[in-house]
Amino acid sequence: MINLISDTVTVPSAGMLKAMMEAKVGDDVFNADPTINALQEKLARMFEMEAALFCPSGTMTNQIAIKTHTNPMDEMICDKLSHVYKYENGGYAYNSGIGIKLIDGSYGKINSEQIKASVNPNYDWLPNSKLVVIENSCNTGGGTYYNLNEMQEISSCCKELGLSLHLDGARLFNVLVETNDNTKDIGNIFDSISICLSKGLGAPVGSVLLGTKEFIAKARKFRKAMGGGMRQAGYLAAACIYALDNNIERLKIDNERAKQLGTTLEQCSFVSKILPIKTNIVIFELKGKLMANDFVEELRSNEILASAFGPQKVRFVTHLDIDDEMITQVQKSLIQMAEKHVEA
Ligand SMILES: *Cc1c(COP(=O)(O)O)cnc(C)c1O
Repeated sequence: MINLISDTVTVPSAGMLKAMMEAKVGDDVFNADPTINALQEKLARMFEMEAALFCPSGTMTNQIAIKTHTNPMDEMICDKLSHVYKYENGGYAYNSGIGIKLIDGSYGKINSEQIKASVNPNYDWLPNSKLVVIENSCNTGGGTYYNLNEMQEISSCCKELGLSLHLDGARLFNVLVETNDNTKDIGNIFDSISICLSKGLGAPVGSVLLGTKEFIAKARKFRKAMGGGMRQAGYLAAACIYALDNNIERLKIDNERAKQLGTTLEQCSFVSKILPIKTNIVIFELKGKLMANDFVEELRSNEILASAFGPQKVRFVTHLDIDDEMITQVQKSLIQMAEKHVEA
């Protein structure tokens, strides 16, 4: 099976497992796991932010960030396709008791004009606009991204309006290998950043939240309340450190392979539209009456796993357990499937 369901499906390599086996660990609830401390320091330094917090998932880092930035009855602003809105079980309401203002952005991207227009005036009956969340890359937007200038403009707008700004950077490194933007410049413009190590970087588990010392101290309390205080989780942090040391540069290859799949899809009769391919995500729409669930089954019978991403939308994600041979195989199968669909 060639698994293009997500870049979360990777399993640790021999080198990563070795790093995990050799990790020095301690009880992180007492701040005493040296490997977790090293991971937190490494990412904080990389983004020139004061402090960091290791968490079991990107959902938890996002949820803790939202909780730390807001109070009940506040409102957060984000694109209608955001992970924090669509895929975290409404956690902003459940965990933080806040409302949400959705922006109809472009492929998951929003801009400062839209943010300005989304801020509520100060009336008794309107929630207090408090937080903006942007996603980079934008998952449901087809993996498109913001460059540094675009993020800087949003940041100045938020400062002007007194809004906190959180970056859901689940796949930020897939972006940075394209833009060559500097991690320190990015750290400089956000109040908090969430980074996933368990996506394209290939660690089995783990996300890190970045912010000021004060912010992370508060976040640590929320992490404990959410049940995310782990003990000898340095074994996991060792995998994350290995991922940062070894798997960032190669993300460029994943992005390139996604484009190769896109080139093939352009020639396929069953495709009506492909979202612009900018990183390692390929989202395409099916033509006519062809439904995503049926198409994903057809892919499966060709030994390819993909996600139905809407009634007629399909998603492929490339990652470090996919090689050139697999890409060639997928391309061949897609062409064969297209021929069959023409005949039918
Ligand atoms: C995967 C993902 C997350 C976090 O997901 P977890 O599975 O909880 O680690 C957050 N934001 C985006 C955009 C994602 O793709």
